[in-house]
Amino acid sequence: MKSAISMLAAASVAVAALSVPAFAADKGYVGIAMPTKGLDRWNKDGASMVQQFEEAGYKTDLQYAENEIPQQLSQVENMITKGVDILVIAAIDGGSLTAPLANAAAAGIPVIAYDRLILNTPNVDYYATFDNYKVGVIQGNSLVEGLKERFPDTKPWNVELFGGSPDDNNAYFFYNGAMSVIQPLIDSGDIVIPSKQMGMDKIGTLNWSNAAAQARMDNLLSAFYTDKTLNGVYASNDDLAMGAISSLKSIGYGSGDMKMPIVTGQDSNLPNVKAIIEGLQYSSIFKDTRKLAGVTVEMVEAINEGKEPEINDTTTYDNGEKVVPSYLLEPVEVTKDNWKQILVDDSGYYTMQQIEN
Ligand code: BGC
Repeated sequence: MKSAISMLAAASVAVAALSVPAFAADKGYVGIAMPTKGLDRWNKDGASMVQQFEEAGYKTDLQYAENEIPQQLSQVENMITKGVDILVIAAIDGGSLTAPLANAAAAGIPVIAYDRLILNTPNVDYYATFDNYKVGVIQGNSLVEGLKERFPDTKPWNVELFGGSPDDNNAYFFYNGAMSVIQPLIDSGDIVIPSKQMGMDKIGTLNWSNAAAQARMDNLLSAFYTDKTLNGVYASNDDLAMGAISSLKSIGYGSGDMKMPIVTGQDSNLPNVKAIIEGLQYSSIFKDTRKLAGVTVEMVEAINEGKEPEINDTTTYDNGEKVVPSYLLEPVEVTKDNWKQILVDDSGYYTMQQIEN
């Protein structure tokens, strides 16, 4: 079936042939489904997409689903009913969208997976994301650098692992990337995991919940650290980092002789950047969500014009039905030494005022 957007594209060719500015007013209607407003990055993703799509001449419908899978499914179904020309989806549960996307395909609506891969369906056309494995590698390296810096005379280092949501495909890429650095040090005896909790089935945190991470850290500390000191926490994102930090602070880490463990993160959320400046969190990852929005808008533009969108990865993201053609952006490490350069001076992602308030 011919998609609405491809019909628009055909119309645009006709318009262009008359040398009238193509798509001046309304190039199409884009449905944007985001997981939650609870984590700041998704607010930025949504706002950047709306702004950039509107500037490019599209109408948008942006919906957030509070991390509730049924809510996201009905939002996507509603978008299809409302007649969107294209769908951009950051899935809550990557494996839950098979039925709505079959409906989207039947209506000829192309689908772009945004940031998170959509699994077990042939009906996803492109994937715009960051290099998720590399995020994990940077996190792993950062943990080790931090351990050497803060605990030069302590070996083995005691470390605990906090992974992302098991229904988010990214969580496995982050974990595997990080473990590519951490596992060799476990094997060599430089790092010990006193709880022995390893693997996404043991250390995954449903919905990337800050509260669940805090509760798990409380339990780990009381079960395994009454006679030991924790030196490092691999936290897969900033929410998990914050949960772990709250728990650690509550029993005295970060004050007196109890040095704060090295805690990693991801997203450069404002509270976490402040925690990095205070020395509570060691590092985060900067993923410029404005650039991800930009890549997505370019993909839609290309689809609209009947062209192949620019992709830079055709091998990594197998969703169980197909390898989804992807565009991967570069993640960047943020620490106390470079946050100002990366987040304020070079990118303008934050103003100094936001950081100081
Ligand atoms: C994103 C991370 C985010 C996490 C929790 C992941 O899929 O890539 O940036 O921290 O979801 O929302």
